[in-house]
Amino acid sequence: MPLRRLSEHRRGNSGGRDQSGHGQTGEQTTMSLLEYARPNDVAEAVALVSNDPDAAYLAGGTTQLDLLLKDGVIQLGKLVDITRLPLRGITVARDTLRIGALATMDELASEPIVHERAPHLRDALLTGASQQLRNMATIGGNLLQRTRCRYFRDRSVPVCNKRIPGSGCSAVNGPARMHAILGADQNCIALHASDLAVALVALDASVQIQGRDGQRVVPLTEFYLLPGKRPDVETVLGQGDMITYVDVPLPPVGTRSEYLKVRDRTSYEFALTSAAAALLIEDGIIADARLALGGVGTIPWRAMTAEEVLRGAPASIDTFRSAAAVALRDPYTVPGTAFKVELARRTIVQVLKNVSGARS
Ligand code: FAD
Ligand code: SF4
Repeated sequence: MPLRRLSEHRRGNSGGRDQSGHGQTGEQTTMSLLEYARPNDVAEAVALVSNDPDAAYLAGGTTQLDLLLKDGVIQLGKLVDITRLPLRGITVARDTLRIGALATMDELASEPIVHERAPHLRDALLTGASQQLRNMATIGGNLLQRTRCRYFRDRSVPVCNKRIPGSGCSAVNGPARMHAILGADQNCIALHASDLAVALVALDASVQIQGRDGQRVVPLTEFYLLPGKRPDVETVLGQGDMITYVDVPLPPVGTRSEYLKVRDRTSYEFALTSAAAALLIEDGIIADARLALGGVGTIPWRAMTAEEVLRGAPASIDTFRSAAAVALRDPYTVPGTAFKVELARRTIVQVLKNVSGARS
């Protein structure tokens, strides 16, 4: 597939790309040409991006084009449009849902099996973005969306470890309401904003990755990296690695699930806090529990220790309060995010009440 020049775009001249596969910003700008390719098969697309450190994939474009062309916080020399690749199907085999990375949010939300067996997944999709965006936005792109941290997305802010490694973190000392309290530290408190990833992480979903050297499967719980000293490195993906499928083991029949999203307004808004819960209750006892949190983590947050509190315990509000306390045991807060600790606890208790139907 020949490359063609797409357009001119503003490009910073501090140069270089980070290991998360996203370019860094610079303060001065020059005009440069952006190459564009739209291959028809996966191997060609992977080769195009693997062999060029200035290249990246373009799926629905709802994040990538904002960052590149509108906000100017990443710089790229080549966009490889993957929307023609045959990765759109959604199938079920042996109780596992296989989602092509190019299926849209809307297509997945419309699947009857999702409604029947994992309604929290549908809730998470339908409470995200807007109908227009959900028609364009892909599942792979959703999992790889970048943080909404205002300092990261404002190229005039010179201090941001994620954008300019080693520069510091503006959010820890500034207004930071939409930021994380779990998996955060003074280096970065950027929130992972995907609702879908929270719902999937609760179900032990995994991603199939196609790279230059072959395929591999990575559980979603191991896919995202805590910021630590390298907030700019966000996932285990290397240059050119493409998510091809997401596999979701469906929970046992009889499991009830819900995604509860608390936000400033009821549509078109990111979560302040959220919780995905799936419970299998037998004779009033919780036989199996899955719990994941959004709006609070630097990565989609699986609340494993809280699940241990829930499993084998009576489905009661006391149990839910104990689980919520454990889930929020070691938060890292700044003045702007301190309110989230109590809000997240209440979100957990409420979603568990809703799923279980418990009144006491
Ligand atoms: P693109 O923008 O095309 O790509 C995003 C990133 O993923 C890029 O880095 C690209 O290179 C990479 N990429 C894409 N596909 C692959 C692949 N298969 N393999 C490897 N890399 C890939 N999300 C929520 O969860 N909840 C919300 O409430 C919400 N609200 C939003 C509100 C607004 C106004 C906007 C603009 C977005 C919102 N989003 C929300 C985020 C939205 O869901 C994502 O922008 C979208 O899912 C990204 O998918 P895309 O196909 O457009 O990805
Ligand atoms: Fe940058 Fe992370 Fe700090 Fe936001 S929270 S300013 S992304 S380092």
